[in-house]
Amino acid sequence: MRIGIIGAGQLGQMLGFAARAHGHTCYFLGPSDKPPAAKVGPVVQASFDDRVALAVLAEKCDVITYEFENVPVDALADIADLVPIYPPLAALRQAQDRLTEKQLFETLDIPLPEYRTIDSAANLEDAAAAIGLPLVIKTRRLGYDGKGQFVLRKREDIGAAWQELGANALLAEQWVNFDYEVSAIGVRSGIGDIATYCLTQNEHAGGILSVSRAPVDDAVLTEQADRHVRELLEHLDYVGVLALELFVVGDRLLANEFAPRVHNSGHWTIEGAETSQFSNHVLAIVGEHPGPTGNRGHAGMINLIGEIPDAARQFAEGSLHDYGKTPRPGRKLGHITVVADSATDRDRLIGEITKSVTKSTGQHGTGT
Ligand code: AMP
Repeated sequence: MRIGIIGAGQLGQMLGFAARAHGHTCYFLGPSDKPPAAKVGPVVQASFDDRVALAVLAEKCDVITYEFENVPVDALADIADLVPIYPPLAALRQAQDRLTEKQLFETLDIPLPEYRTIDSAANLEDAAAAIGLPLVIKTRRLGYDGKGQFVLRKREDIGAAWQELGANALLAEQWVNFDYEVSAIGVRSGIGDIATYCLTQNEHAGGILSVSRAPVDDAVLTEQADRHVRELLEHLDYVGVLALELFVVGDRLLANEFAPRVHNSGHWTIEGAETSQFSNHVLAIVGEHPGPTGNRGHAGMINLIGEIPDAARQFAEGSLHDYGKTPRPGRKLGHITVVADSATDRDRLIGEITKSVTKSTGQHGTGT
């Protein structure tokens, strides 16, 4: 099949590699010159809302998907009559606004942090009084990797928070003193069969994912997260891979957000699972059954941010993925995956790699 992918970054590149392995051809659309996905297929260089470029892509392809969630839905809706688009645009629309996303969690009884919508500095006062401090103020739209957020710790900062973010539609959310963060990744095919991966634990630095570990050794949390991701997939009549990010607080999970796409916290599945998230996304959108999602051991993934130091190329036990991007502070340039027979060995490898990468760059995991 000919698959059109909106976005041509590293997720597009890895989707492209998976699609090629299944005998499909990919065409990409993205604004950058020489993006990572250019390694795997032709790129139509255009902005995401370029109606003409989207129509060209629709004309060329049998199915369209996307690799990031800030694609203008209305522009995609214009080509929806010409070609199937997966995941469904309704899911994309809901994920693009933190309010509708939270309302969806509420509809499905998926627990989430307390929150309020914010229209004024006075609203912020009310939210601080009702929920308590600290509060995380988030833009409803276009936030990612912690961008568009303000942690309000004292009432005196309400003015500063309003000045920084007040021009946007906002939410104020309870600060969650979580034990750790996890993501639950699942895939649903067009014929409705669902497969899920084991739960993944994620560490962030400066709002950017730095390390993932899978599986999480907790059967109760795994069962809860699995149930939530299945509920989302079914409710949304979803096709493709979806990632649900959650906070772990004791034996409870609180949903943070979901991504209607393949996800950085699932990169370990390339080496660490029987079928990668990228393969499974491709299988789902071309109308096939998902492949088995069992893990091959204890997997770890270390993001390479800002720079890929020479040290990162020297680990016999790690698989380096270099996306071929120009280095820039805070930019995700690649990742290393390790798979070990035990969690202890996996964590030792992650420790060695992280130490060595940090020594070389002095800034592993620090997003700017
Ligand atoms: P987000 O863009 O919502 O995924 O936020 C990025 C990161 O900020 C999350 O992965 C958390 O580490 C942190 N964060 C977001 N919301 C909260 C919250 N309500 N309480 C504590 N930390 C948060």
